[in-house]
Formats: sequence, structure tokens, C-alpha cells
Amino acid sequence: MIGQTQKPIDEILEYLEGKEKVVLVGCGGCATVFHTGGETEVKEMAEKLSETGKQVLAAIAPPFGEFTYYVPWSKSRLSRYRKEIEESDAILMLSRGDGLQVVRELILEEEFEITKPIYPATNPIGHMGGGPTLFKEKCQQCGECELGKFAGICPLTQCAKGLLNGPCGGYKNGKCEVDPERDCAWVKIYERLEALGILEKIAEIAKPKDWSKMTRPRQIEVAPLEMK
Ligand code: SF4
Ligand code: SF4
Repeated sequence: MIGQTQKPIDEILEYLEGKEKVVLVGCGGCATVFHTGGETEVKEMAEKLSETGKQVLAAIAPPFGEFTYYVPWSKSRLSRYRKEIEESDAILMLSRGDGLQVVRELILEEEFEITKPIYPATNPIGHMGGGPTLFKEKCQQCGECELGKFAGICPLTQCAKGLLNGPCGGYKNGKCEVDPERDCAWVKIYERLEALGILEKIAEIAKPKDWSKMTRPRQIEVAPLEMK
């Protein structure tokens, strides 16, 4: 899940300066979980914009579980609002940046042949797990998961310096020198290896990370999901 916060309303209004007719699009995925673009937030944003004199032509809020960044669902939902989109001066996306770009490129431009200003209303901050209230960054999608070598703890994400061979010399009382409030990831790795009875693995030198797996933009092809 991608953790995210909503942008301040002033920043959103700056984007929408001079744009009177607006269409809002939320998402039934992460934006719903993080309260940035679910049904409630889309409704609230529509109210806020109306109060500032904007005309909200459509406030599209897919239900939980329907992802705006998934083209088949997005296409089907946005098709119902094509007229409003055509008449609008701008689209405001209460979704992640990938949702915005999917809607801009694959739905509006390629499917509808519409070119419109489109703006983000959220700030995504990383791949996170947890809930229902506290979420923590756990993975940076390096393209070659090495958790098997590190007792199930990702040093790239959990160690402030991303060290594959740790710890550094700065940890104190099991805490990280960069943020003394947080556990040192390498102390945790040590403890887990010990608990698993394979502490000797701490002496194995990890090879340098193959960052070519993170060359961007990455893409992947899969069989289509069966739609019910
Ligand atoms: S090694 Fe870490 S960053 Fe890479 S895929 Fe695994 S959890 Fe994610
Ligand atoms: S103290 Fe531990 S978690 Fe912090 S930077 Fe050093 S090795 Fe990484």
C-alpha cells in the first residue's frame, strides 16, 4: 500500500487558479485507507471547492476495492462521466501519482482523446504496511528481494543508511544513531538470526546491490484479471 497525505487546500487552489469547472476523481485503494481520496474525502473536497466558488461537475469516488490506477475499472467508471470531463476546465485527482498518470494517459488521452489539465491532491510517501491506524514503510521495491538473507528484515528500508553489511559504528543501546527513537535494523537482524539459530550468517558479506533492477520506468506484463 502506498502511504499518502492530502495536499494543503491552498496548494490545491493554486493549481486550480482560473479553473472554474472541476471534476474530482478519488480511488478505492490506498487513497481510501489513508483518507486522502475515498468517498468521504471526495465529498469533503467537493464541498470545500464549492465554498470557494468552484463548480464541481462530478465528484467521482470509486467504492473501496475499486482502484483508479487499474485501467479496466477506471475506464468503465470514468466513461459514465465523459460529458462532465469534456466540459471541465481541470481534473483534480485524489489518488496516487500513478492513478493520475494512468487516468491522464491511458483513459483521457488514449481512450477519450481528451487533453485536460490534471492535478494531484495527494502526496504519496512510500510503500507501507500496518493498519488500521499506524503504517510503516517496509519496502522500496528494489526489484530483487533479499529478505531471505537478512532474517526477514529489509536493511534497505529499515536501516537509515540502507546498509547491506551492518551495523555501522553508531548504534547505541540497540537504537539507531540517525534516529535514537528507532531500533537499529542491524541489531534486529542480529537478534532474529540468533533466535533462528543461524547467527553465523551475520558474518556473510552481502554483495553490492544490483541497482540496475531499479532502472526506471520499470514495467511488467501479466495475464488480464478476470472481471466478474
Ligand atoms: S529487499 Fe527490501 S526493498 Fe528489496 S524487495 Fe525486499 S523488502 Fe523490498
Ligand atoms: S545505527 Fe543501525 S539502523 Fe542506524 S544507520 Fe547504523 S546500522 Fe543502520
